[in-house]
Amino acid sequence: MSLADSPPLPGAPFFAYRDGELWVEDVPVAQLAREHGTPLFVYSLAALRAAAGAWQQALAGRDAQVCYALKANSTLAIVQALARAGCGADIVSGGELARALRAGVPPQRIVFSGVGKTRAEMRAALEASIGCFNVESVGELDVLDAVARELGVQAPVSLRVNPDVDARTHPYISTGLRDNKFGIPHDEARAAYRHAARLPGLRIIGIDCHIGSQITAVEPYLDALERVLDLVEAIEADGIALHHLDLGGGLGIDYRGETPPSPQALVGALLARLDARGHGRRRVLFEPGRSLVGNAGICVTEVLYAKPSATKNFLVVDAAMNDLPRPAMYDAYHAIAPVQPRTDTPTQTWDVVGPVCESGDWLGRDRELAAQPGDLLAVGSAGAYCMSMASHYNTRGKAAEVLVSGARAQLIRARETVADLWQQERALALD
Ligand SMILES: *Cc1c(COP(=O)(O)O)cnc(C)c1O
Repeated sequence: MSLADSPPLPGAPFFAYRDGELWVEDVPVAQLAREHGTPLFVYSLAALRAAAGAWQQALAGRDAQVCYALKANSTLAIVQALARAGCGADIVSGGELARALRAGVPPQRIVFSGVGKTRAEMRAALEASIGCFNVESVGELDVLDAVARELGVQAPVSLRVNPDVDARTHPYISTGLRDNKFGIPHDEARAAYRHAARLPGLRIIGIDCHIGSQITAVEPYLDALERVLDLVEAIEADGIALHHLDLGGGLGIDYRGETPPSPQALVGALLARLDARGHGRRRVLFEPGRSLVGNAGICVTEVLYAKPSATKNFLVVDAAMNDLPRPAMYDAYHAIAPVQPRTDTPTQTWDVVGPVCESGDWLGRDRELAAQPGDLLAVGSAGAYCMSMASHYNTRGKAAEVLVSGARAQLIRARETVADLWQQERALALD
């Protein structure tokens, strides 16, 4: 196989082949694998900065804030890098609140989303003086009001409305439909705002929506915006001022040749529509996760065994569904490419699978690869929803993570040992 035949890996130019092997910025990926072992997550700081910069630039000159959705990748150094690039945080738990604060995100730039906030989480967020609670139900309004009054403060709130964007035109939308658990239904939102306005522990500051993830077109966002603006106008006619409009996250990335709009194109279209409807001066927030980190990372894994057979060929690698859960969970596709493409081995069709005892433990199916035991493979687009979803299944410690900047590399998470895994467990004491 010639180098030109190497399967493309998203993340160029930060992840690219040079001198016959894969590099991350100015560091050969194989060198990192030798130093830190595998499976290994490798991130590019320049890629993170470029992604954040694209969002910031798209919003330049506007009263706007990009709030990074931590659940995509909540590793402290990653959050720190994005915080230093000017991002706030979109959090969904007390744990993510602690991470955002620890990473130096200014509290005023934190928005708290999620359908199941506990009283303890609300208290912690109020004590930290976060920027906004994105409230998802009327019941949550009442609880937040009570918790805020106990603390003698007012909670800044926005209601997450569910715009019920038509699934027939946009079937890939997963959270903006009436039938799912997220947000307050469009036709109940006005009454919910009137209810919120009567609660003394709350201060209404905005409205928000988040219609789904891995969205690769502008139209569903425009549909949602129109529906939300209809509501804004109705709610403000009721005498309730809405300072900001939070349009959520969800912008897709290239996993296998998708061509999502750039932040510039998406934001440009949305701001134009806002202007056209006379809302141009309103503060806007976005909550991107995947589009900030997804293609800023890869996962490097070593081929343990090649198991050819009459019907299926399996490459067994040392990364598994506990490191990379998306294929097992969502049937998701990640590009898989050799770190050091070889020319001395014929290309065959392989299923790339992990060592975990589940048939669902696969990373890629029917991939054309020339590989042998001992070779390194790079799993692409592994920056989002991989490490943050990793588990200990099969008593496998979590992988190490390395961040690269130019020719320098820093270990940002040490590989977990087995002792780390059972640290909180207690030996049997009953008889
Ligand atoms: C998950 C989530 C995001 C981020 O979604 P991406 O698809 O990663 O951009 C933003 N806002 C909310 C409320 C979310 O639940």
